[in-house]
Amino acid sequence: MPDQPRTGLRLMHVHAHPDDESSKGAASTAKYVAEGVDVHVATCTGGERGSVLNPKMDRPDVLANISEIRRQEMERARDILGIRQDWLGFVDSGWPEGDPKPPLPEGCFALEPLEEAAGRLVAVIRSFKPHVLTTYDERGGYPHPDHVMCHRISVEAFHAAGDPERYPDAGEPWQPQKLYYHHSFNRPRMEALHEAMLEHGLESPWAERLKEWKPEPEWDARITTRVPCGDFFGVRDQALLAHATQIDPDGFWFAIPRELQEKVWPTEDYELVVSHVDAPTPEDDLFAGISAD
Ligand SMILES: [Zn+2]
Repeated sequence: MPDQPRTGLRLMHVHAHPDDESSKGAASTAKYVAEGVDVHVATCTGGERGSVLNPKMDRPDVLANISEIRRQEMERARDILGIRQDWLGFVDSGWPEGDPKPPLPEGCFALEPLEEAAGRLVAVIRSFKPHVLTTYDERGGYPHPDHVMCHRISVEAFHAAGDPERYPDAGEPWQPQKLYYHHSFNRPRMEALHEAMLEHGLESPWAERLKEWKPEPEWDARITTRVPCGDFFGVRDQALLAHATQIDPDGFWFAIPRELQEKVWPTEDYELVVSHVDAPTPEDDLFAGISAD
């Protein structure tokens, strides 16, 4: 346990689907929970249009009840991570497949008017009163329409939540002090893990992906914040496994031994995008410069 538990500090992550909270920033979540921080995840959609990505779960009974099963998976992950969680209640847009891509399904999250959709998040922010808000970068982290929309409503809500003239029916204004984007799927990390696997005579799951992914030094230079959380990779893995329809226990998520990950890249990485406090970057803590109420 840390010397000074950080009771009174609140962190909110906004995610597109159930499982995203476990695949992005989950180890830093677990670390902050262990330190006494209150962590809340707002999940935009129910993941209703997600495919079953674990061959062992690709069964008719699972497919017939996918919405309910994903809710239960989320509840398990929530308990493992020790967080609170709310559904914003939007409908999964699905991953458009085909050339040309088909139009997005009517009524889905990505087609919601921005202001209206952000209003639901503003209400959750004003109720939970986070000091720090995280979301995806403007590319969505990966270009799923729900991830891009999650980014858009998060930025909109971050700026509106503290303004008494915006969304006057969504609760008392509350201004989070910092806004971060997740950057944990960065190329330098993937490259370092890939090299480490080869050095140890192991098969890297990233060989193909690295060949296709051109270096983007300017993008990577946007990282301001590396949160040490290697001790919590085990909790992250348990939370991931709770999403049994989405995560194949024999797939790439678990192809790299945890000890190697802890040694080679023991941080989760973020970009500080907006800050209303005085704290220099680079930093190693999302709460740098922030004190509890
Ligand atoms: Zn997602």
